[in-house]
Amino acid sequence: MPEPMLDRNDPAYLDFVGCCSHLPRSDGIIANTFEELEPPAAIKAISEGLCAPDSPTPPIYYIGPLIDEEKASGSAHSEEECLTGFHISVKVGSNIDCRVVDLINEEGDWDVASVERIGTVQEAEAILNIPIVRSAARDKLIWSFNRNGKFSVKSGYWLAMKDGRAGFGVGNGAPVVTEYWKHLWKLQVPPKILHFLWRCSNGYIPCMESLLKRRITQDAICIRCQQFDETPLHATWQCKDCVAVLEGASFYSSLTTLQVTSFSSLIEFAMKVLTVDEMKLLVIMLWSNWKERNSFVHGIPTKPPLVVLWELCFNLEEPPGSSRFSFI
Ligand SMILES: [Zn+2]
Repeated sequence: MPEPMLDRNDPAYLDFVGCCSHLPRSDGIIANTFEELEPPAAIKAISEGLCAPDSPTPPIYYIGPLIDEEKASGSAHSEEECLTGFHISVKVGSNIDCRVVDLINEEGDWDVASVERIGTVQEAEAILNIPIVRSAARDKLIWSFNRNGKFSVKSGYWLAMKDGRAGFGVGNGAPVVTEYWKHLWKLQVPPKILHFLWRCSNGYIPCMESLLKRRITQDAICIRCQQFDETPLHATWQCKDCVAVLEGASFYSSLTTLQVTSFSSLIEFAMKVLTVDEMKLLVIMLWSNWKERNSFVHGIPTKPPLVVLWELCFNLEEPPGSSRFSFI
């Protein structure tokens, strides 16, 4: 909200309120955005007249975002030249599927007949008064959440957190950030395994449940056991082949005393009851179980649980039969 709008004594406040109260009487509103970039609920509210229930709602023309790339790079251009940087791939009118390029003829001028066909005389006149620059620019995608129009991970993360839209995982969009993660990050295991734990905790691994939410599959049933939905917890901890591996760890029985319901709750509980060394082994086992799961899904021959255990022993330089393992 602009600062003057927070002060009712500010002249700008009165001007803005006066302007807004007259908007329903206008012939149309030009918005510097793409319709697709705006929240659907806002578009729906405006188009259905909910914003001005006692007045007519004028049509809204989405003509942006308009970005002057050349100016951003430091080059000086006239106002007209700046239009070359404007990539106006817009829909004109709320119910006419028409792009700006469709209104320009082969000579690069406004196609007057087409322009006059899409709206009122005033609208057509307003459009025809927009100068067209001869040097053609290619259409391109513009990320409106950065000033330079380019996507960055930082701005994408900000947007996802702001709107709770990191919804490609199982969770509600907000990554799980709990106290135990501060300690978990210090665990002396390969970074890829810590990353794997993070993705599991937030539902960012492509298990069947995630794929179903993304409409890639028709159901969430585990491909291996064909009995339960495959969640991150099931794919690494609960499925029968996973259990066969995990039972080889001496600490397994201590973890089954609690009925965990999610991967993050398993990790959180394990951190309370296991030693650091046991915790390291557990996360490596979970990761190994996920690897085996992937082999199965992709048609690669899988290893019997006992072989997986032996390999874990070998890779950890842990002699079979040590206190960590109970299968011998
Ligand atoms: Zn299963």
